Amino acid sequence: MNYCQCERPRAGRNPDFCGYCLIRHNPRIISTDRHMTEFLTELAKQPGPTAPAIRHAQKRERSGRTEFGLSYIGRDNDLEALEEAGDGIAYAYLSWLNDRRAGTDDIDPNLLDAAHHFAQAHAALERRRR
Ligand SMILES: [Zn+2]
Repeated sequence: MNYCQCERPRAGRNPDFCGYCLIRHNPRIISTDRHMTEFLTELAKQPGPTAPAIRHAQKRERSGRTEFGLSYIGRDNDLEALEEAGDGIAYAYLSWLNDRRAGTDDIDPNLLDAAHHFAQAHAALERRRR
């Protein structure tokens, strides 16, 4: 079957079809609860406490789905995530400065743990971009 190949497709009046080329979207590339669950089920198999992060990700993705529609198609999502990983490290650092202001000079190990995992995420995303 022939599917929409637009670089930046948009939802048509019928959301199954592209509003530009009027050709059907490949249903396997549309963000749905089922596809999100497919991805998050694999994440849940990874070591570590993933459940709260999975709930958070589902909530964030669902709330953005209506607002942002198909904008993820053709966007460099890895670059967006790289920037979020860098932001996460910066936020951990800034939290430490707030701790300092409150009188605690030692870096909270939880902040370092968070920054370390953001750094690991950053490295993984960079591997995808090579
Ligand atoms: Zn199209």
